[in-house]
Amino acid sequence: MRNVVILGSTGSIGISTLSVLAAHPEDYQVLALTAASQTDKLLQQCLAVKPRYAAMLDSKAASELATELKLAGSRTEVLSGIDALCQLGAHPDADIVMAAIVGSAGLLPTLAAVEQGKTVLLANKEALVMSGELFISKVKRHGATLLPIDSEHNAIFQCLPAPLQQHTHDQQIADFGISKLLLTGSGGPFLTTALTEFDNITPAQAVAHPNWSMGHKISVDSATMMNKGLEFIEARWLFNCQAADIDVVIHPQSIIHSMVQYTDGSVLAQLGQPDMRTPIAHALAFPKRIASPVPPLSFKQMRDFTFTEPEKARYPNLYLAIAACGCGQGATTALNATNELAVAAFLAHKIRFTDIARVNEQGLEHFADFRVSTLDDILALDNEARHYAQTLLRKLT
Ligand code: NAD
Ligand code: MG
Repeated sequence: MRNVVILGSTGSIGISTLSVLAAHPEDYQVLALTAASQTDKLLQQCLAVKPRYAAMLDSKAASELATELKLAGSRTEVLSGIDALCQLGAHPDADIVMAAIVGSAGLLPTLAAVEQGKTVLLANKEALVMSGELFISKVKRHGATLLPIDSEHNAIFQCLPAPLQQHTHDQQIADFGISKLLLTGSGGPFLTTALTEFDNITPAQAVAHPNWSMGHKISVDSATMMNKGLEFIEARWLFNCQAADIDVVIHPQSIIHSMVQYTDGSVLAQLGQPDMRTPIAHALAFPKRIASPVPPLSFKQMRDFTFTEPEKARYPNLYLAIAACGCGQGATTALNATNELAVAAFLAHKIRFTDIARVNEQGLEHFADFRVSTLDDILALDNEARHYAQTLLRKLT
């Protein structure tokens, strides 16, 4: 029986994780669930899976949750605040920590789990984009096991030779005959929309992803392809490679989740339904395999299987992220911050869809050469980039 902590249990990944765990009650039990402020959702989850702990970022929401749980006769202990999220990530009884908080807010609780040498299932890509070098050095120093949940990185991981899977952060992919990591992406809902329409794209249109059902922030990132850009940076750190080792390929059907190209001409791909419960089940059980509730892929129902290159004019955010990856850690930390604010402003109807790239481009120009090494540097730069983005956003709104 392995104890699982889910950081961000009320979100899309958190719910998918609970769905996989529910199919294996004899192998996993939930030690703790956490959320930002959605009391109702967390209450329902606590009543269903009876964790030892539940924590909320918001203290008022936490005290409401505690009252409701008590009334229902639950013995779940309720905690609150960022320190509580970190404590639960680092809890001595936790075997597996699912890092599924969205955005930079996930960094500290995820690092807390890494520092205790946990098996960390990483969905929260922004943590790695913000702090890649520091994050991976902590993984190595504390002997943590880092398993990718992002479907592309999980696919690449599955296509690596077994000895490389054991030591992805120390080895050179070229030493294993790998010539390229091929990140696939659907191209999002605006793959064929006329560019002249882009100024009028609404938040409702942007979050309506053709293949995946996800939280709002990542859905907008998928529409701009900033998501693929963040994943590019994520891959650079997860697989200890350089920007030149990674290519992005548009594959609108979202069946191939990414590929690894070898020097002998072989390309290995991982295929599956666009359902996050597959990578979640893979990482939960690794190196074993367990069943997930995902229906099997049916090749009889598949018609098209196509590939194209992402256009620069359609996806400027993707190319900004690739440029930031080449600049270094300061640039990616800042880009992550400006993007979070720009996406939030777009979702709040304050700026246009096309303004997201404007903010990110100006932010990147400003912060391209900034250098960071410690956690304090990273948090200070994150903060400075947010202020900078706010100034840009005020001019646009
Ligand atoms: P979501 O918005 O559906 O859920 C986010 C979760 O984080 C919720 O439980 C929320 O309560 C919690 N949260 C939000 N802000 C918080 C804060 N400030 N402090 C503490 N907790 C906070 O997001 P999601 O779609 O589940 O994505 C989660 C992460 O996984 C993101 O980093 C995303 O990029 C990554 N990811 C998601 C998918 C997907 O299919 N949804 C796929 C790949 C990667
Ligand atoms: Mg992904």
